[in-house]
Amino acid sequence: MCVKEGVISAETPPADKEKTVMVMETERQEIVEYGKRISSEGLAKGTAGNISIYDPDTGLMAVSPSGIGYFDTMPEDVVVMTLDGKIVDGARKPSSEYGLHAVIYRIKPEARAVVHTHSKYCTALACMRESLKPYHYVIAAAGTAAVPCAEYATFGTPELAEKVREAMGESRAVLLANHGLVACGADLDGAFSLAVNCEFCAELQWMCECAGENRGVVLSEQEMEAAMERFRSYGQTDNSSSGQTKGY
Ligand SMILES: [Zn+2]
Repeated sequence: MCVKEGVISAETPPADKEKTVMVMETERQEIVEYGKRISSEGLAKGTAGNISIYDPDTGLMAVSPSGIGYFDTMPEDVVVMTLDGKIVDGARKPSSEYGLHAVIYRIKPEARAVVHTHSKYCTALACMRESLKPYHYVIAAAGTAAVPCAEYATFGTPELAEKVREAMGESRAVLLANHGLVACGADLDGAFSLAVNCEFCAELQWMCECAGENRGVVLSEQEMEAAMERFRSYGQTDNSSSGQTKGY
């Protein structure tokens, strides 16, 4: 379905002069663009993972479709729906994880975008039910000194969304046991950057822990507080809407 803005004159047939406007067109284009980046950066293989953008003014979210490869997805394939699951625009089936996205918009009023990945190292830690620890200061992009791991629940179920709601706390990201990662941001760039940073931190954590017991040193609470303060300052000085990872 498209919203039609009729521009009709007496001289020309209406069909020739009709201008069609796609609901949440800009957001749908962004989702297509960042889907390709998720794939090319190795954060998810095939059709795994999904992306959404939320507009609090309309209460609508645009979410990637189910089962279509990132390089095959067109803006019109992206589904526009309410947080309750009512499809407003789009002929495709939405991602089976739309409920996971919706719960984050409900518990994080500042969130405008969500990225869900099956990135390898985050998922490995999630299989061990480990949280992401502060081996590297860049984890401060999550707004907390650690990224928690939610308990396991079957993918695409309200139970998984509930486990995320229980585990997320103040963090802008959470690992999903035996599944992957979900991250949010004040815009899609912020959510995507956080997912990239979480994967970087997860790989470092894996390396440090493989090096042997007590080889890696995690940053102290005080050191992480200082890092998080720097992140907050950078977010203000570069006018970044995400306030997360730019300029460090
Ligand atoms: Zn998944």
